[in-house]
Amino acid sequence: MKQFCAHCRKLHLKSALPAYFLPQDVVPATLPGDEPEYRLRIHSIIKGADPHFSGSVTIAVDVRNPVDAFPINAVEMQISDVTFEDCNGVVHTASIREDAEKEQFWFHFDEKLPVGRGLLSVGNYRAAFNKKLKGFYLSSVKGANGETYTVGCTQSEPADFRRWVPSFDQPGPVDYKCKFSVVAEVPADQAVRSNGDDLRVEYLPSGNKVVYFETSNRLPTYVIAQVVGDLESSDPKWVGSVEVRVWAPPGNKHLMDFALEVVSRGLPLLEEFHGQKYPNRKLDLIAVPGFSAGAMENDGMFTFRMEYVLIDRLKATVAQLLQVAIIVLHELDHTWDGNRHTMEDWSQLSLNELRATFMSYLIADKLFPEFKVWDNFAQGRAAAMDVDSLKSTRSVVSPVRTIKECEAQFDVITYNKGSAVLRMMQTCLDALVKDGFQSGMQAFNNDPRYDWGNATTEQLWDSIGEVTGLDVRGFMEGWTKQSGFPNISVKRAGKSSITVRQARFTLEPGDVESEQLWQVPLFVRAYGEDGKAFETLLHLDEREQVFDLGADFQWLVVNAGGHGFYHTSYDDELFEQLAANAQEKLTGVERFILLNDAWAALQTGRLSASIYMKLLLTFKYDRDPNVWRIISMSLGRLGSYGSEKCRETVRAVVEELTAPLYTELGWKRSQGESPQTTELRGRILAIISRQRLPGFERLARKNAYLPWLAGEDVDGDVLNAAIFSVATEGDAGTYAELFGLLNPAVKVLTPQQITMVLTALTLLSEPALAENTLSEILNDRIDQQMAGSVIGFLFANSRVRYRVWAMFRERFAELADKLTISLLLRGLNGLGDLDRPEDAQAVQEFLSLHAEKLTGSEVLVSQIVDRQHLNIAMRARCEPDMETVVDELLVLVRGISK
Ligand SMILES: [Zn+2]
Repeated sequence: MKQFCAHCRKLHLKSALPAYFLPQDVVPATLPGDEPEYRLRIHSIIKGADPHFSGSVTIAVDVRNPVDAFPINAVEMQISDVTFEDCNGVVHTASIREDAEKEQFWFHFDEKLPVGRGLLSVGNYRAAFNKKLKGFYLSSVKGANGETYTVGCTQSEPADFRRWVPSFDQPGPVDYKCKFSVVAEVPADQAVRSNGDDLRVEYLPSGNKVVYFETSNRLPTYVIAQVVGDLESSDPKWVGSVEVRVWAPPGNKHLMDFALEVVSRGLPLLEEFHGQKYPNRKLDLIAVPGFSAGAMENDGMFTFRMEYVLIDRLKATVAQLLQVAIIVLHELDHTWDGNRHTMEDWSQLSLNELRATFMSYLIADKLFPEFKVWDNFAQGRAAAMDVDSLKSTRSVVSPVRTIKECEAQFDVITYNKGSAVLRMMQTCLDALVKDGFQSGMQAFNNDPRYDWGNATTEQLWDSIGEVTGLDVRGFMEGWTKQSGFPNISVKRAGKSSITVRQARFTLEPGDVESEQLWQVPLFVRAYGEDGKAFETLLHLDEREQVFDLGADFQWLVVNAGGHGFYHTSYDDELFEQLAANAQEKLTGVERFILLNDAWAALQTGRLSASIYMKLLLTFKYDRDPNVWRIISMSLGRLGSYGSEKCRETVRAVVEELTAPLYTELGWKRSQGESPQTTELRGRILAIISRQRLPGFERLARKNAYLPWLAGEDVDGDVLNAAIFSVATEGDAGTYAELFGLLNPAVKVLTPQQITMVLTALTLLSEPALAENTLSEILNDRIDQQMAGSVIGFLFANSRVRYRVWAMFRERFAELADKLTISLLLRGLNGLGDLDRPEDAQAVQEFLSLHAEKLTGSEVLVSQIVDRQHLNIAMRARCEPDMETVVDELLVLVRGISK
């Protein structure tokens, strides 16, 4: 509930605030013009015997109720010299009390502070750098000559600004966004960047310099940032009047061009879309050696994992290039969708993230149409549907009761489901009202209630609804405030009509009894008696409806274009015709969705492994890399069931299935080929490598791995598959060789190649080597930021899985102390792969034992448990017949010709 306050002309929250909000007796003020509410001075010492930072901050505040004490957010620091200058100019000295549990410091005064404008001064605070990649932390990277480059970097989202600045640390309500003036003192030989442009530098006799930054825009605390240390930048690139630079530890200047190109071409498109200019004079993109999340949209200075911004076009895989483009555009879009128009509180994180995720694809599609960007988006949608099929899923907009629960909001439901349902809405809207979506977004952006303020998703839907005259809110709330999504079953009702029924899709039949209904757009493409296609958009909002398509049809596809966030199942006859026409008449993304729908049905037990596998075979000559991705995933999974004889047969099936494309595409990129072909080659080589076809590893060494070691440039997609093959077949010697490559004195790798080698280390068959990899994480010889993924990959390796589980269990407490909760969860996800019946109880006991360490992430932990139960059930169901299924499959695949 909100109420307009006549006293200060601002929106106030009327209902009870979440417990993690500060009380509202004293709140940040709003000063006129450019005058900053926060004045922050911070001195960082990142090297030497005692690395730490210290600082002071003054905050202009409004006392709304006379109180003699109030708290602000601060944690893991010492604070002294706190005073309060009240509206009458009287200065009060505070006594200070820490409430570490609530991450607050209370300031107590001898008398009540009068209502009115005041100035809070924290004269002195000091802290050590954080050890878990949050707040203000250090990370480092080795150069080719053995030097160590150190970078101090802040990461304030979600609620870690308080770890480096005492503050009112929350995104809203409206009054909490402020303008920040930052002054930084650092050694003169180190670079230092903050949100605003550096206006002035003073050099001190101590050898330090003091840099004064331009006052920031009106922003939430979580996008205020500072980076200091051993960094060098690209030459500036001017995009209109905006100066853009990429920054990184020395030795990376040759990897900065691509990100600069993405910004210089993407920024004008985003300005045009939003109808608002980029609001800063400069933009820094800073590559940081250690980073828990992928990247961060600090206003005017984005920070990234090195691999998400530094890239060599000639050495990268197609997917890696697209990933960098998407991540850079995502952060760039947050300039509007998040920084300028900010969510009101953490339960509304999706307001920021669903827009930025969607917009990054919309713009990337315009910049790089050759990458087939929306096909890649379909992968993210499928991942979200997979989680949203569990009974422990949550809705896109869901309550955040404690500060620890904020972290758990950064998941596939917020990002992937949020952006996928936005894509579905945008597609419908633009079909009904010309440019309806963009006009609606612009109306929201320019609404003075939200511009440089805070808002909710409901308010966004209302703005779009007002412009288009459609009930956008009613439509979107069904998809964002309900968890789950429907399965759409389609039956022929007559020559020109179909009966369509919706029911919640769940991978756990019987567990979720649902009366839920959604407003479902059906993008129908039907084929008439003459074979010609006609399209229509239908709206299903009841349990079951009959639709007349207006003309007789032979067969049809109900999620044409693939924009729908639902699974589809057809009656037998319609399904048969769809499958028969798939190769010729469906687009790549539609074929991917056909397979994905079938894979989901297989997991529920509604489709047999035999029928599913036969469907796979029809794609033997398919040229879509995403279709091969799902073929590879499902054969890998089904191939892991049954006896060794079964696996031999699956190998023979894969050999037959991949033979035509392998023969055609070979190992080398041909001149002028499309990115799809390059990616397809990598995909085919990867599936052969994964299935360990005899003789392949020798070829992988000869054609890619050894030439690459010798310094030749090898295509990224080919190299990826080759290294994985070498590792999969490798022994202790291979492991030592691969591990050695992580030392830049041995070989200088690109950031993407470092990840590739780390992944390869998890693929070997010797359990002792897997244990060694876990030890190296604990010894800090494998970077923290990669630790979670590496552990997840180790669990995925069925040959070492149980030894990893034993050691993981034993040393979990150490890992939990070392890693952020989000990195730890990436590792814990691997528990879902433990799919013997007896594993269920062991995992349950383990998770209960460590429940306290996982506080705030209960939903994500339940999803791991649900996933494990599903995997156990699926193995039990599929394993008994697997031998017959694969024998039959081998006969069939040999019979297929083009
Ligand atoms: Zn984001």
